[in-house]
Amino acid sequence: IIDQGQPEHSVITTCAYCGVGCAFKADMKGDQVVRMTPYKGGAANRGHSCVKGRFAFGYATHSDRVTEPMIRDSIDQPWRTVSWQEAVDFAAQRIRGIQAKYGQNSVGGITSSRCTNEETYLVQKLVRAAFGNNNVDTCARVCHSPTGYGLKQTLGESAGTQTFDSVEKADVIMVIGANPTDGHPVFGSRLRKRLRQGASLIVADPREIDALKTAHAKHTAHLPLRPGTNVAFINAMAYTIIEEGLEDKAFIAERCEGPAFEEWKAFIMEAKNSPEASADITGINAAKLRQAARDYANARNGAIYYGLGVTEHSQGSTMVMGIANLAMLTGNIGREGVGVNPLRGQNNVQGSCDMGSFPHELPGYRPVSDDAVRASFEQAWGVSLQAEPGFRITNMLNEAVAGNYKGLYCQGEDIAQSDPNTHHVEAALRNLECLIVQDIFLNETAKFAHVFLPGSSFLEKDGTFTNAERRISPVRKVMKPLGGLADWEATMLLSNALGYPMDYSHPSEIMDEIASLTPSFAGVNYQRLDEEGSIQWPCNDATPNGTPIMHTDEFTRGKGLFINTEYVPTTEKVTRRFPLLLTTGRILSHYNVGAQTRRTDNVAWHAQDILELHPHDAEDRGISDGDKVEIASRAGKTALTAKISERMQPGVVYTTFHHPESGANVITTDNSDWATNCPEYKVTAVQLTKVTQK
Ligand code: SF4
Repeated sequence: IIDQGQPEHSVITTCAYCGVGCAFKADMKGDQVVRMTPYKGGAANRGHSCVKGRFAFGYATHSDRVTEPMIRDSIDQPWRTVSWQEAVDFAAQRIRGIQAKYGQNSVGGITSSRCTNEETYLVQKLVRAAFGNNNVDTCARVCHSPTGYGLKQTLGESAGTQTFDSVEKADVIMVIGANPTDGHPVFGSRLRKRLRQGASLIVADPREIDALKTAHAKHTAHLPLRPGTNVAFINAMAYTIIEEGLEDKAFIAERCEGPAFEEWKAFIMEAKNSPEASADITGINAAKLRQAARDYANARNGAIYYGLGVTEHSQGSTMVMGIANLAMLTGNIGREGVGVNPLRGQNNVQGSCDMGSFPHELPGYRPVSDDAVRASFEQAWGVSLQAEPGFRITNMLNEAVAGNYKGLYCQGEDIAQSDPNTHHVEAALRNLECLIVQDIFLNETAKFAHVFLPGSSFLEKDGTFTNAERRISPVRKVMKPLGGLADWEATMLLSNALGYPMDYSHPSEIMDEIASLTPSFAGVNYQRLDEEGSIQWPCNDATPNGTPIMHTDEFTRGKGLFINTEYVPTTEKVTRRFPLLLTTGRILSHYNVGAQTRRTDNVAWHAQDILELHPHDAEDRGISDGDKVEIASRAGKTALTAKISERMQPGVVYTTFHHPESGANVITTDNSDWATNCPEYKVTAVQLTKVTQK
């Protein structure tokens, strides 16, 4: 796919940042990218882009890139630069030594949502076939694992239901725990365009988000709920809709399991779930909530979009099921303009989950405990596989602290910065006898590593990413890997050193293997991707053209399942010692832990993380704009610069986590979602103390 009209040539590829998955033309001179131009033919972005995708690609050639493999016997020794073969032999010897001493299950791997589908597939294959266990997890564990769980239970598929185009048919758009204009900017622009065309917006979020200020929007409503009370909010919405007779009775009768609905309805109609009763919990005015429920239920097309403000809670999975319940209750599912739409944070969160990077599921979300599924992989891979689920990241860290887990292969994920309770993570990493870090930079996790394998950026390899609308898009190599090998080649080399042969000459062969073993990917191949630009899974004999909208005639599980969503307060309570609640988010110019965007000109836009707080909380503590403030929780403390903001509600403070020196995760706790262990990043009780004046 070469467009000769651009500087010398252009290569169409996919943005490596957020889950919108914008298509770009990498405009090339020789092997240098001279600019990234949003591609008009991109189905997810239709020629649009944001400041990250368009201007923040310079990290790929930043001087911090590590381009040679390195090893060291212990983490207090300096690194030694070695050949690739020496590095993987060293790693393999250590891994096998650990397994001989501590057992087969004492090692595992973590895949990254920044790597391609083919790369994450290979890592989980290496763990299962070469390590011989199911100890593989993905960084999606700490963001959208409740989405996978909750949507599978209720609808039957661990994925969002719509295309991004679908928002153009929505009349009422409900955004819960997300800030699309900053986190998913191209989708955020489409949302605002739809608001200007007359759609209404309901935002349930502790903080006022920019979309609420969309000029010429017909109607916007902000429900400023207290952090940690999502489930009480969604139950009150359902209560109102049933009490006022606004449910879609025909849809429920035809499409959903009747007895489960009746049981759920009886649960929802308990008095404690009324808007009036739950107002004390959520802080949302009951009349305002009732109006929002009416607006959503009465909409011709009501669509829900949600983000990490839903999932990163102790009841993240419960809330995802609550959202699915609400969509089924109102018949807002199975056609354009409606649906349940998780806004995925990273470019390939959906894909890394699809590829079986979970300790309990093989590619395509099929349980490792299923004998028939396991048998198909055993036959293809020529090994026998464990039937018991392996360790999640949380288990790996806990077992490492306990001294039972000793080896970890970590590809493209900086758990020392991105995972909660940094002190605990560091204690775990320090206990490992072989930590293999594969990354483009010497990240925070690499401080604890024994083997460093140079990673490759999205410009240095072929592959695919899958965005939040299940769209599989090509990633194309425009320059040679600076370290000599693409990530998939490095995994292959390591596997061979471990004695489990892998021999792919191109990622297209890996995709062919994925398609042969994963029914929802059966119709996907590189030739089609080249010809069609992208494909939305499921794509197989039943849906040869892919699936833009899911659950149109029936749910993937057959009938939709209403599940009771009891509100259980988080154990993270405010007290006299920790009287405020901290919640976290991101800003437009930066991406996640900032490893990429901090190494581009974007850093000039926002060079540090800021603590936002309401004027009342600032006044109570004598804090002014620009003051340095110590922020302490039960887990730890750090210092941030204060910004006084009317966007906040009293009692709630907010920060981002783009800069390691800010130490946002020093203060987050070990609390996690009951079903998936997704950390409760969004609720931390804290105290503020002014340290220095501006
Ligand atoms: Fe598109 Fe997201 Fe990349 Fe921005 S960061 S260009 S919205 S994929």
